[in-house]
Amino acid sequence: MKTEIVKTQAKEIYTKTKLPGSDYVINQYVGCGHACSYCYARFISRWKGYQDWGNWVEAKMNAPELVKNKYVPGWVFMSSISDAYQPVEKELLLTRKVLKNMDKKINLSILTKSDLVLRDIDLLKKFKEVEVGFTLNSFEGKEKELFEPNSPTFEQRIKALKTLKENGIKTYAFVAPIIPGLINLDKVVSEAKKYSDYFWFEVINLRGAGKEFSEILEKEYPESFKIIKDKKLFNDFIQELQRRVKKYQIKVKGIELH
Ligand code: SF4
Repeated sequence: MKTEIVKTQAKEIYTKTKLPGSDYVINQYVGCGHACSYCYARFISRWKGYQDWGNWVEAKMNAPELVKNKYVPGWVFMSSISDAYQPVEKELLLTRKVLKNMDKKINLSILTKSDLVLRDIDLLKKFKEVEVGFTLNSFEGKEKELFEPNSPTFEQRIKALKTLKENGIKTYAFVAPIIPGLINLDKVVSEAKKYSDYFWFEVINLRGAGKEFSEILEKEYPESFKIIKDKKLFNDFIQELQRRVKKYQIKVKGIELH
């Protein structure tokens, strides 16, 4: 799918946020060519009058200028309504230019699905406090195609975590979206724990993922859908999840259950 790039100019670049563990967010892109079908930011397409999520991206071309000589306290999260390392970044280098100009005293937390982040290790090393997280799940084959069609594979993400670690960068694993019956938790944790300083877990939020995703899930994975919709089955699932997470010998920063 070809992504339409819409070049824009922003007034501000750091926005205050209530996201757990973060004080500000930075989105040099709005929209995302990774086109995940469960993306909680999909609603923006309709809101901005675009067609399908994933086939457009707005690039704030003056973002590198806006971060210059600007310090914000606490933790800055990159990014909440886009992936800083989505495919168009290869061509635009917008994230790289932002990192180059950012105050290196800022505490920066990046969450991505792409090993393109490895390109910027030289810049990441200049920050006093920086961490890079990878969204990890065990989607492959049909699920990968349906849920995360355009992002690198699980294996590529693990390999990237390893390279970051070898370069002395702090890393974390964001295990999401956890969908009953569709995640191999043992595999994800055992592969990621060698290269991750800590873990977050997040169960799918069907309301956030939107009607279209619910329809896909109900049609293609009716058992998973039933568990999420049934209060008792869902509670059992959550309890089992918490029991298993406790069993792993890993540092856990949070489990978001929705
Ligand atoms: S990578 Fe993140 S921002 Fe991009 S589509 Fe997927 S969930 Fe949304």
